[in-house]
Amino acid sequence: MSNLPFIDLKAQYAALKPSIDARIQAVLDHGQYIMGPEVKELEEKLAGYVGSKHCITVSSGTEALLIALMALDLKPGDEVITTPFTFAATAEVIVLLGGVPVFVDIEPDTCNIDVTKIESAITSRTRAIMPVSLYGQVADMDEINAIAARHGNLPVIEDAAQSFGASYKGKKSCGLSTFGATSFFPSKPLGCYGDGGALFTNDDALAQAAREIRVHGQSQRYTHTRLGVGGRMDTLQCAVVLAKLERFDWEIEQRLSLGDRYQQLLIDLPVQRLAVRSDRNCVWAQFTVLLDGRPNIQQALQAAGVPTAIHYPRPLHLQPAYSTYGRGETHVHSESAGQRVMSLPMSPDLTHEQQDRVISELAKALKA
Ligand SMILES: *Cc1c(COP(=O)(O)O)cnc(C)c1O
Repeated sequence: MSNLPFIDLKAQYAALKPSIDARIQAVLDHGQYIMGPEVKELEEKLAGYVGSKHCITVSSGTEALLIALMALDLKPGDEVITTPFTFAATAEVIVLLGGVPVFVDIEPDTCNIDVTKIESAITSRTRAIMPVSLYGQVADMDEINAIAARHGNLPVIEDAAQSFGASYKGKKSCGLSTFGATSFFPSKPLGCYGDGGALFTNDDALAQAAREIRVHGQSQRYTHTRLGVGGRMDTLQCAVVLAKLERFDWEIEQRLSLGDRYQQLLIDLPVQRLAVRSDRNCVWAQFTVLLDGRPNIQQALQAAGVPTAIHYPRPLHLQPAYSTYGRGETHVHSESAGQRVMSLPMSPDLTHEQQDRVISELAKALKA
């Protein structure tokens, strides 16, 4: 049997080809490759979708996080509380600005930051809290916002690179805190055909700062009011996202129902399913389970044409580039998850037949 795709971007393109091609052609025709009309159109649509006053598109999810911290004026030595069980970009941007990531362990059942451990990590140097909405499930933002409010109104940045489209207590991811930062990397829930990202905020001054930082700190052309970066998202990528928005609601429905179906099909297998809290959903940027004996299972699935991935094998406090920030602490749940997580094929175009094949191969591999 042929190999299954891990993420089926070809089926998505086939379904959207007329609109994507037309959108790209329109950009080629008007030729405004940087800050063309599609940039503003996308920012307005995404702000409306999220329910946030401002959307600022940027060149990647990493850049979104970096620009958020720059807009908040993070200074060398400032501490930012975050999770070690995430993609490196989350902590990377803190360190790039001279800041210090302070890692707080995750909940073993959701793999999101354990909010009960945040308060004891706050010091007089803490300048922000940066939770990650991992796998597409929003972190406990209300509780994090409440902690932030109790400690001098600390800003909260949601790393929502994996959770665009997810809901939390009736609201959308990205619109839940000081800043929401997302990514349009092709494999994310809302992806473009290259790099892209966006920042969301309701704060006018922070939005203005982020817009300036995105173009080298310019408040007007050639007036560099502050330090910035080259962080624009290009018009072609905005055009691709605009076309993809056409069926995005359907894609989110698919992700939710395929995720539920996976969870059901897994009930009788010896794997730990990710917990999804009842007041939110998970859009399954990755459909991830936890299990023991992962190397053998992965190998057996690979041989059966079922690709898997690990998000993420080694938590950041154990990475060479970040180990000096770990204060020598262990984060047992992050370390255990690093050994046990495994992601299965997931995308809106995954068919039930493909999903059944994944589950039956997984069941075989678990028995072997
Ligand atoms: C993908 C991702 C990022 C970085 O986004 P890019 O667009 O690739 O720069 C940051 N944080 C998390 C949790 C991610 O999954």
